[in-house]
Order: sequence, then structure tokens, then C-alpha cells
Amino acid sequence: MMSRNSPDEIILSEGEALGLARDFLTAHGLSAAQAEAVASALCAAQRDGCASHGLQRLPGTLDTMAHPAFNRMADPRPEAVTPAVTRVDADYGFSILAAERGLPSLVANARRLGVAILAVNNGFHSTALWPVVEKIATHGLAALSMNPTHDWVAPSGGTKGTLGTNPIAFAWPRAGHPPYVFDFATSAAARADIALHRQRGQEIPAGWGLDPQGRPSTDPAAVLAGAMLPFGGHKGSALATMIELLAGPFIGDRTSRQSAAFDKGAKAAPCHGELILAFNPDLFQFDSAQPDLEGTPQDAAEDLFSRITQQGARLPGDRRYAARAAAAQHGIRMPKALYERILRLFPQQE
Ligand code: NDP
Repeated sequence: MMSRNSPDEIILSEGEALGLARDFLTAHGLSAAQAEAVASALCAAQRDGCASHGLQRLPGTLDTMAHPAFNRMADPRPEAVTPAVTRVDADYGFSILAAERGLPSLVANARRLGVAILAVNNGFHSTALWPVVEKIATHGLAALSMNPTHDWVAPSGGTKGTLGTNPIAFAWPRAGHPPYVFDFATSAAARADIALHRQRGQEIPAGWGLDPQGRPSTDPAAVLAGAMLPFGGHKGSALATMIELLAGPFIGDRTSRQSAAFDKGAKAAPCHGELILAFNPDLFQFDSAQPDLEGTPQDAAEDLFSRITQQGARLPGDRRYAARAAAAQHGIRMPKALYERILRLFPQQE
């Protein structure tokens, strides 16, 4: 299908986009299974209009694969810790393959027990979180996922990077509609956004970060050298701290500080753990002795969603689903410059 929409853009079919990413990764020596998992996550983000976590991440995988600890042949295997808890050691490969391999037991355990945990350890991670929680929700389960990153973010009221940008994603299954999904970092802004401002010579809004002396700053270069700030003041700070604890020490893995130390300046994707929880929404039902609660809990959830949308607010996830529908019709768009850069970065044949 490859075609051009504008001189600056290339349009690929889903198969072509996947093929490009997969071939790039395997040509650089990544195992077929890891390449498939990473390519699928990046292409899904590109398709859904999440450019920051789409194919533009492909060139950066070379820095990650160049980390001395990176394992191109990692072959993660899930192991049961308790009937409710599964652990998968990503074995220093990309964490997305380990997460995907752990999903069948997470889903089966949550169905059987009502609640289940998947702990992914030792994975290099820079993909968006929503593809995994959305997948879990398509099995009729609610899902929550979180992970630390590197200690770029100062706590609210503090001066020095201590917390990660710590993303959190949640999905709730819906009948006749794609799941409700949100997925965002707990920092006020994405690090990539701050870097983009620096590149364009623009100031960043107040509240995004601190300079190296710990003073509030709107200079992107000073903030990148200093510290970012959490969103929502002390509230974002506490949420990011919870993520450090639950997706770090709780699952026996690195905090953002430990993950940054492990990088040793390689500029690889952060290597750490990831906590994924699944909940069976059928576990509890309304008590028939409470006649004020009409319908089922699922009806109550749908009522909540419609009360949000009926007043003109949008549900997180809906922008992506609209972008996905457009991509299904017109193909996946990517900047021509990125496409050509990726082609240039293929290893040269002898
Ligand atoms: P944003 O601040 O842009 O927030 C994104 C979320 O908010 C999405 O769920 C989005 O839905 C929803 N949303 C945005 N605007 C609205 C609105 N007006 N009304 C309702 N919902 C809205 O995201 P971030 O920059 O914080 O994070 C972007 C991505 O970066 C995430 O996918 C995250 O996983 C990823 N990330 C990954 C890290 C990693 O360690 N791998 C680290 C940090 C971030 P929609 O998608 O439909 O627009």
C-alpha cells in the first residue's frame, strides 16, 4: 500500500509498518520473538496516533541493544509464585515480550481468583503501557500497570531527581465498545516534550521543572540538567512514590535511582520491573438488599461513562480509537524523514 499523502509523509499498511519494524530489529540481531513484540507495540502506537511511542522509538532501540547487559536472545518464561502471582524474568531483553508471555496466566488467574498479579523483572522498557492493559481488558478484565523509569523527577517541595516519570495505565472492559483506557506519566510533562522545546528554542511552562540548583525554571536545557516535577504537586509526587514502591521493591526490582545507575551512561531504555494487576469485574455484584442500586455493576460503569461524555468531556482512549479507525481506512502515517532514517540505519550488507 505504500503511498504518499504529503511530500513530508509516507503511508504504510499495518503489515508494511510491522514488517519494517520487525526487519529492522531482526537485522540488528534481535530474536524473532522479541522483534515481533517490540514491533507490534511500536506499530500500535504509530497507528493510534501516539507518535512519541511509535516508530520514532525504533532508532533508539540500537542504544538499548548496545547496553552491555542487553540480551538479544532473551527467552522469558513465566513462573508461578503463588496461585495469584506470576513472575516473568525478562532476562535483560525488552520487557514487552516478557509481559506478553505472562498474560495468559495473569488472565487465567484473575478469572479464577478474582484478582491476579504479574511481575515482570529485568526488562528494558520504553514502550507505552496501554497496549498491554487494553489487551487484558479484551478478556473482560480490568487491568492496572505501572513501572519506574530513571530518577529524573524531584518530589514536590524537593530539589533533586529522586522519582521516575513513572507511568500508570488502567483499562476497564466494556460491552460493545473498546475498553476505557488511560495511560500517562506521573511527571508534569514528558521528558521528550522538554527536549523538543529545547530543540525549538522555546521556553517550557512554569511547573515542569527545576534547574540544577533546584530553582523553578522555564529553560528546557536547565530543567533537563536539573530535575523534572511531578504533575499535581504533592498528589503526583505520592502517586509516583507508590509506583516506585510497588513496581520496584515490592517485586524485587530496581527503583528509578537504581535503574539510572544500571544504565552507566549507555542511554539505553530504563531497565527495571513492571507490575501488572488484573481484576475480574464479575467478582462482586450489587447486593439485592440494596434496592437503590439498579441494574448490574457494569450498568453503573456505563452510566458513569455516559455522564462524562454527555457533558462534552471525552473519555481517555477515545482519541486513540478514532485514530485507529482512520488508520484502518487510510493506512498508518509516518514522517518521510523518519522512514528514510530507519532505512539508513539498517545494517549495510557486505
Ligand atoms: P498525556 O499527559 O498526554 O496523557 C495521556 C492520557 O490522557 C491518555 O490516556 C489520553 O487518552 C488521556 N487524555 C489526554 N487528553 C485528554 C482529555 N482532554 N480528556 C480525556 N483524556 C485525555 O500522556 P503522557 O505524556 O504523560 O504519557 C504518554 C505516554 O508515555 C503513555 O503512553 C505512557 O505509557 C508513556 N510513557 C512510558 C514510559 C515508560 O516507562 N515506558 C514513561 C513515561 C511515559 P488518548 O490516548 O485517547 O488521547
